[in-house]
Formats: sequence, structure tokens, C-alpha cells
Amino acid sequence: MYRRRWLLADQLGPHFLDDPDQPVLLVEVRELFRRRPLHRQKAHLILSALRHRAAELGDRALLLRTDTFREALARVAEPVEVCHPHSRAALRFARSVPGLTVLPPRGFVTSQADFADWADRARRGTLRMTDFYRHARRRHGVLSAATGRRPRAEARDAPETPPPPPPIVEDDIDAQVRHDLDRWAADGVRFVGRDGPRQHPATHAEAQSRLAHFLTHRLPDYGRCVDVMSVGDPFFAHSVLSSSFNLGLLDPEPVLRAAEQAWRSGAAPRTAVEPFIRGLLGWREFLWQLYWYVEPGFRGANWLAATEPLPQWFADLDADAVEARCLADVLGAVRDRAWTHHTPRLLVLANYALQRGWRPAELADWFQRCFVDGADWVMNATVVGMSQYADLARVDTRPYAVDGGDIDEISDYCSGCRYLPGRALGDLACPYTGGFESFLHRNRARLVADPRLAAELARRDQPEHREAVLAQEEKRGSNPP
Ligand code: SF4
Repeated sequence: MYRRRWLLADQLGPHFLDDPDQPVLLVEVRELFRRRPLHRQKAHLILSALRHRAAELGDRALLLRTDTFREALARVAEPVEVCHPHSRAALRFARSVPGLTVLPPRGFVTSQADFADWADRARRGTLRMTDFYRHARRRHGVLSAATGRRPRAEARDAPETPPPPPPIVEDDIDAQVRHDLDRWAADGVRFVGRDGPRQHPATHAEAQSRLAHFLTHRLPDYGRCVDVMSVGDPFFAHSVLSSSFNLGLLDPEPVLRAAEQAWRSGAAPRTAVEPFIRGLLGWREFLWQLYWYVEPGFRGANWLAATEPLPQWFADLDADAVEARCLADVLGAVRDRAWTHHTPRLLVLANYALQRGWRPAELADWFQRCFVDGADWVMNATVVGMSQYADLARVDTRPYAVDGGDIDEISDYCSGCRYLPGRALGDLACPYTGGFESFLHRNRARLVADPRLAAELARRDQPEHREAVLAQEEKRGSNPP
């Protein structure tokens, strides 16, 4: 007798199925949307992707709408199996259901056993993404110079603005999702952010089409644009496929092989392909494996003893309340698109929170709810571990605290801002520069071991200036900058 394969909402691509005839279960649980306010576009994307998958599978799929997963499973007559869920809570639940078979994880290149083996050996030092990435490349033969031919060109000429990702065309399923979400909102379900035309793929076919566009038109520029921020171009050469990977619409292994092939064929330079593959095979795999390897997880970590709550204007994505040009633009992008690339996340949003001592777990929850690609396994290590420097014991990291001068170096924000990036004091003081200095002074005992920050601290440690900066930043408090 066939087991019915339960596809969770982040397991929606073809690689989560083996048999073209196997019956499938999909479940919509409204309670998940009621528990805590999700970005409206994230809620839309999840529902749209689930319903599109059900439509693709036709008679094979049983789509149930219930209050709980347990209720849905109780309604299925035949035995059910599920691929290893992507969060601890979901795995605990799956293991608690009698008769539900939990299969090994899918949607990642590396295996838990291989990571554990590597990490146990590396544990004598600390766990470094760069070391793991080197190990994974060797193990999976990625970007190896020994196979295939070398590219003809290593760099592109004069930079042009790469074309943005092609727009998504909504259909009747999206119209029904929008109608349902409007109804839920009228019934009291709270969302954050603005609704708008769907901007991220909801099907494997849409994700494949975005991927093909990226490989041809934007990958060649990826290396030179990867960390740049601009008020005029939120995408640059980024793939904007993170939600497609995290919904399980795309299988990362063929994607990284396609990127590698672009290098081997000479269509894209290695300087572009390598950082893209590092993101997929390095960062993405490292974060996923770390999530399961590190017990009991990062959420409670708070090494810098950061205790301030997130202010309401930030929690509500109220970009109009903010005058600082970089933060207004990035917060506005989250409100309007539920997405920005990694540099604004780290250096504008998380850096602002780090400087002001906001609670790491609350910030991680905010990122998870407000970004279309937000997932527990991603945000634990990136927000709590890396960006807020809250857990030093398990991952080798450094505080991603920077001042306005650093933001000015990699963006075009500061030229049109009412503040001056180099100024820490006075009416024109950049909140990131004043905030950076205040952060250094408040945490001096914990930061002296970091050579970069210790040098910054020594350079800015004149007593009068220090007291003035601390008083100014205290006065700014939780007000929007
Ligand atoms: Fe942001 Fe400061 Fe630059 Fe203004 S001056 S854009 S606040 S970094």
C-alpha cells in the first residue's frame, strides 16, 4: 500500500517527490497565520505556493484546510510519510504523530552525517564557514580546477546595471489568495507590510524561469555587485531566489552546477560564480547544518546582554517615520517587498539593532516574519549568532558593527541624507556613527578581544567626546532616527 507523501509548505519542488503516481497531502493551517503577524506578502507567497502545488498535482493531491496539522493527519485514511521538516518544532511534532514516517532531509547538498563528522573534527577549534565551504567543495567536486576547462574571460568590462528580475504574472489562484487574506484581515488576523503584486516565484516553473534569467543576465555581474547598496537599484545582480530555495521550489545542487557551468563555458567569470556558489554551498548549507548540530539552538543566546525591545516604528515597518536615508530606504523595501539582499540586512537593519542593544531573539523573530525567505534555521545563526554577536561559543564570528563611513563606502545613501556619515555629535550626526561609538563604549569590556573594534575604541576614547556621544545616543533612545 502506498504511503501518502505530506509536502510541507517549504517542500514544494519536484525533488521532494520520488514517484510520479504517489498520492500527496498538502495542509493549510490558518492558525499559523494568526499566531504572530507575518508580512502580508509572505503570507500570500506561502498560500499561493501551496495552492499552486495542489493545482499542479491535480487528483494526486489532497489539500486540507484545518485548524491544526494533527486534525489534518487524522482525516487521512492511508499511512503518511514526510521528509525531515525544516524546524525543530515541526520535527518534534512529526515525531510525535503515531504512524507518521519521517524520511531523511532533502533540499540541501550536504548530509547531516558528513557535517557532524567535519564539525566533530573541527571542534577542537571553532566552526568556521570558510573551512566548511572548502570541505564541501572538495567533497562534492565543485569549482575544481582539475575538471573541465578554464574560462576564457575572468572579468567584465565597464559595469552596467544588470536587468532586474522579470515580473511575475499573477493568476486566479493569486486572486483567490488575496481575497482570502483580505477576509482574514477583516476577521482580525494581523499582518505587517504592504500588499502588492506577487514578486517572488510560487511554482517550480516560475523559479526556473527566474533562475534562467539570472544565469544569463545577472550572474556575470554578481561578483562586483554583491555587497553594493543603492537607493536606485534594490536588486543589482542578486538572484532574488532565496525564497524559492527556502520554499523548496529549487534544488540547490543543480543550480550550483548550472552556475559552475556558466564559468566553465566562459559565460561568467569565476569572480562572479564563486561568491554565488559560496552563498549556496557555503553559507546556506553551513547555516542549515549548524541549526541541527548546535544544541539546543541559538535563540536564547545574548552574550552582549542586549535587553531593549524593538521599537514600534521598526516592528511596524514604518519607514515614513525615519529620516536617515539608508534606514528609511531599507525599511521601506522590507515593507514593500518583504526582501532586501544580505548587505542592507546586516549593515543597515541588524547593525542599527546591535548598536542599540535590542533583544536578539526578538530581532530574529522580526526577520523571520517580515522576509519572504525567513526561516527558523536561517535566522537563528545569521541574526542571533552573527549579526547580534550573541553567541560566541559555537561559531567563529565578529561583531558586524559599522559606522556611517562604512555605509557610505559601499552605498549611494549618504549623499542625499540629512545626516553626515563622518559626524558622531551634533544635529547632523549620523545615527550609525554616533550609535557605533556608543556601542563601543557601552560594551568595551566584551569587545577588547576584537582587534578591529579595540582599535576603533582606542581611536575614539577621549573622555569628553565619549560622554557627549553617550548622552546624545541615550537621548535619541528608541525614537526613529
Ligand atoms: Fe545612513 Fe548615516 Fe549615511 Fe545618513 S549619513 S545615509 S544615516 S549612514
